[in-house]
Amino acid sequence: MVIKYTGENGRYKIKSKRLPFDAICEEKNGTKILLLTLKEIAETNGNVSMIIKSNKCKVENINKQIVKQLECPVCNELMRPPIRQCSTGHSFCNTCRPKLNNCPTCRQAWSDVRNFSLEGLTPVVLYSCMYNQYGCEAILSGSEINAHEEICEFKMYLCPISNCIFTGNYLSTKNHFKLNHAQSLIGSTVYRCNFGQNHNTNTLETVLYFFEYNNIYRLTFKRTRELCCWNIAIMNSYNSNNKYFYVITITDPKKDQRKMTKSNLCLKKDVALSDINSVSFSYNDLVSYKNTNNNDLITYSCELYEHKFKYFVNFS
Ligand SMILES: [Zn+2]
Ligand SMILES: [Zn+2]
Ligand SMILES: [Zn+2]
Ligand SMILES: [Zn+2]
Repeated sequence: MVIKYTGENGRYKIKSKRLPFDAICEEKNGTKILLLTLKEIAETNGNVSMIIKSNKCKVENINKQIVKQLECPVCNELMRPPIRQCSTGHSFCNTCRPKLNNCPTCRQAWSDVRNFSLEGLTPVVLYSCMYNQYGCEAILSGSEINAHEEICEFKMYLCPISNCIFTGNYLSTKNHFKLNHAQSLIGSTVYRCNFGQNHNTNTLETVLYFFEYNNIYRLTFKRTRELCCWNIAIMNSYNSNNKYFYVITITDPKKDQRKMTKSNLCLKKDVALSDINSVSFSYNDLVSYKNTNNNDLITYSCELYEHKFKYFVNFS
């Protein structure tokens, strides 16, 4: 069920394959569409409670008892799944819980036990998108809101360049980056290029960024006396993005079929790089992949994958 505020006369547009209440409505390709005010929604349904509550947008409590059960005692926002509890049984929202060492009500330790009866209420409760202050008008049930916020076009991103204070949604951050930090950006077309390597000089580190899949990635290339290391970190929220990994392939320019490949998981941005969480090749491994015997250039490509699916082939 999708419910969106129309911005007109307090009416909400409801689209659903199966409405949770009886109502006369328009039908398009098996989807029922109707325009109602919250009061009308409340009057139309007997069993289903619909609640819209957020600090930033209109508050309308249709069933006060359900609201009370789902309210986080610390911040008063409505809790969303997964709802976890302390060893006594008190629940708090997923924003407040990580900030508290133990339960503020009874001082008992946290447990990982889920409160499924509370979670069971959330599909009939409506949540407004957490980015509504930036213009998102989506209002969705507890079973849909988390997935929406992951891909919400109003989600905020911080420019990853240090000292730059730009914040914007995905597209405006990407555009900002192209205009202001083009020298640090990797394009998304397929290409390979050479990398100068000279094992007699000191450590060298190159940092570049690219935008894909609604994420900002940082590619770090590090060369020490013995090793070449590649590493990719995700610069925005990591929890839902730990499914991405990358593959570094070194190719022999004289024989295209001769390759060396290693892969690793994308990292959280503040994790310190090590041989274990990066892809590394020793200088001895790389020597026979040099483009010519007279210089220290090697050819490599980097690919990013999500689960089993190849997403793109890329860059230098
Ligand atoms: Zn809270
Ligand atoms: Zn407690
Ligand atoms: Zn949104
Ligand atoms: Zn910037």
